[in-house]
Amino acid sequence: MIAGEPDSRFMQLAEFYQSLQALGAKSAHVDRILRAWLQAKPLDAGTRRQASENFLPLAVREALPELTANLGKLARVIAEHPGEDGARLLVALADGQTVESVLLPRGGVCISSQIGCAVGCTFCMTGKQGLLRQVSSAEMIAQVVLARQRRAVRRVVFMGMGEPSHNLDQVLEAINLLGTAGGIGHKNLVFSTVGDLRVFERLPQQRVIPALAISLHSTDAGLRRHLLPNADNATASLDYRRPSVAALTAMARHLHDRGIRTTVRNSVGQDVDGGCGQLRARHLDGSVAPPRQRRGVLVQCVGEPNS
Ligand code: SF4
Repeated sequence: MIAGEPDSRFMQLAEFYQSLQALGAKSAHVDRILRAWLQAKPLDAGTRRQASENFLPLAVREALPELTANLGKLARVIAEHPGEDGARLLVALADGQTVESVLLPRGGVCISSQIGCAVGCTFCMTGKQGLLRQVSSAEMIAQVVLARQRRAVRRVVFMGMGEPSHNLDQVLEAINLLGTAGGIGHKNLVFSTVGDLRVFERLPQQRVIPALAISLHSTDAGLRRHLLPNADNATASLDYRRPSVAALTAMARHLHDRGIRTTVRNSVGQDVDGGCGQLRARHLDGSVAPPRQRRGVLVQCVGEPNS
């Protein structure tokens, strides 16, 4: 908890729903308010056909400023590193923990689903931290809302800090909301996993079925076990380095010549140590710059297909 910062009452979406229902809101009212929040609009935004004063109960309308304040406490940007084609955001949650979100090219945002990660990939700074706590669905949605306050968002990828399959219920709740009230196309929601079997069972049962991205890292089982010990990105303190562009291009050509469709993920701004978990690590050791004072190109926590 940050000194002087009040906790949010809505760590879980269920608490938000309960607050509205206690004020007399019916499901249609809750849905209207949810849509406004997920679209980063004022909660009393209403629609083109119907102003909120003709729709929402008076008690709900009177409570909207407090509801807005509580939602705002879920997540706030404490450092923003803008680049030419995106920005990396360090986001503080209500209890003072921090996660990273990345604004991606072409209307994408990469969000975090856990604080730390239990997978412990040997090349990942987030994995080095171990799992500290789960990120709630409300906190994941809040990351998207922060992104939408900065620009349009048409695509959400769960490739930030954490392994989404280890926080499956909360991630699926967030995906369901983003694909409905959030207005994001289902295939523009990307669930990235190291390959937990529970994902393959649960995803087909969902109302909103996201695209699935599986991180192999190696087709050699032994090497993969070494790299992903519990089923990491080049960092100064670790023994891994990103291959050169020439090596990546040669590998892609080798695969392509053998009929294997291959895309090279386009990470930007390798020069600012912006890989997954590095911004948070720098914040924890006190070396992170305050918002908008440090400028530079960014490395993405998620790749962008070149196509
Ligand atoms: S690369 Fe992903 S799965 Fe592996 S430790 Fe880092 S956050 Fe976890």
